[in-house]
Amino acid sequence: AELPGEETADARPRQVPGVCYSRVQPTAVREPRLLAWSDALAATLGVARPPAAGRAVDALAGNLVTATMQPFAARYGGHQFGSWAGQLGDGRAMSLGEVLAPDGRRWEIQLKGAGPTPYSRRADGRAVLRSSVREFLCSEAMHALGVPTTRALSLVSTGDAVVRDMFYDGNAQPEPGAIVARVAPTFVRFGNFQLLTATGETDNLRTLADYVIRHHHPELGAPSAEGYRQWFAEVCRRTAVMVAHWMTVGFVHGVMNTDNMSILGLTIDYGPYGWLEPYEPGWTPNTTDFSQHRYAFGQQPQVALWNLAQLGRALTPLVSDVAGLNEALNTYRDTFLTTQHELLRRKLGLSTGQAADAALLADLPQGLTASEMDMTVFFRRLSHLVPVLWEPAQEEAAFEELVESASYLPEPGPVHAALRTWLGRYAARLRQETAGVEAIRAGMLAANPKYVLRNYLAQQATEAAEAGDLTLLETLLAVLQKPFDEHPAHEALAARRPEWARDKPGAATLSCSS
Ligand code: AMP
Ligand code: MG
Ligand code: MG
Repeated sequence: AELPGEETADARPRQVPGVCYSRVQPTAVREPRLLAWSDALAATLGVARPPAAGRAVDALAGNLVTATMQPFAARYGGHQFGSWAGQLGDGRAMSLGEVLAPDGRRWEIQLKGAGPTPYSRRADGRAVLRSSVREFLCSEAMHALGVPTTRALSLVSTGDAVVRDMFYDGNAQPEPGAIVARVAPTFVRFGNFQLLTATGETDNLRTLADYVIRHHHPELGAPSAEGYRQWFAEVCRRTAVMVAHWMTVGFVHGVMNTDNMSILGLTIDYGPYGWLEPYEPGWTPNTTDFSQHRYAFGQQPQVALWNLAQLGRALTPLVSDVAGLNEALNTYRDTFLTTQHELLRRKLGLSTGQAADAALLADLPQGLTASEMDMTVFFRRLSHLVPVLWEPAQEEAAFEELVESASYLPEPGPVHAALRTWLGRYAARLRQETAGVEAIRAGMLAANPKYVLRNYLAQQATEAAEAGDLTLLETLLAVLQKPFDEHPAHEALAARRPEWARDKPGAATLSCSS
């Protein structure tokens, strides 16, 4: 109870001024069953896989609140699609408390979909299986890719039906409900601070900032104006690292509202996200954003900066000198560019540095876009082609193989001219590397995943799970936890998206209501 909280549990939607969180109770579900479990995260937390039903699964579904749990829902606000939205808060998430892992780290465990809270507004506090499968799989997949992210421990079906307006076509169908237990050092967001400043709660703002610094940045020492500035610069740095990873794996978050930005720079709130298949900077999977494309792939670095500027504004009551906060935004720009550059160099197997490298990296997206290259297949295939590209006489053959295996426009033709030119420059540059061909290839295979959570695969895993078949869900989890390895039995999961999945709602596009 270090933070001001509200002690009464009351699920009526309302403004809750004066507090950082509200005590809540999950609402029991009919028949909880464990559908999926992350052994990798469980090992970190030091917990064992539970049976499909029983006390542990009851706790993971909100049906059992033990004496040591004090469930709460956080109060926060945010900018949604560029406009200040006022109080939002955890409308369908509630934290059960923290666990102390064997390695001494503390992890907050949060149930998503466990019933209404004072922040649910007019919604039901529930989640459907479809969106829960997506959050569960993608959290663990992103972690395995080395992307900073919140984690997911369990996926539990509730036995209750949930109604969602699936694709805003007015055709609401009941769907099976589910609950994900997600895990992070903290789930505090930019929006927690923004709301306190918007309502003039400067004491709570300071309390929350001090809490985050004390627990997550102890190296910054006792609270001071300089400490807040350093902390903000660190938030900028971590956010930049996160977005640089997104840009190099082809992840589109889909709803980068400031309430969906973690104060620790973790990818948070897996809703209408998607993976680039044909490389396209203007692409977003989020149908709610189709008119604006505000959160499209190529917009993400700019949007994160805008979001950080909103956070900086919210922190001004804590500092005397606003210039220091503005300066920290440069940390974002610098860190983003250097991190993206370093990650791309690894993906391209360039370990020596040359003056012309920046231009080589900058010119790649143009070719990938024109050739509608599948981003994941392209880099993986390129890694394998290093020995071929090493021989100038074989460059053309390597190019043809790349187009055939990775492009959604597989016929040769003038559309591929930009990529062909780029490949020639790259091959010439590659031959100047000092490492051996095999070492370069191995390094690239460790930097370019074979498996990502293609949008249609999550959809197929959901449909199978709804029909009682958990095989694809289990296979995807296993493969995505080792995305750089070969999994010979599951080549199909690494292939280009099939044509039928191109514009299918749910397989390619999603709405915020997921
Ligand atoms: P999101 O778009 O997922 O970031 O959600 C925006 C806000 O809506 C947050 O305050 C969520 O907690 C709330 N919210 C989303 N879905 C639900 C739901 N089914 N029940 C209650 N609140 C929800
Ligand atoms: Mg959210
Ligand atoms: Mg969400």
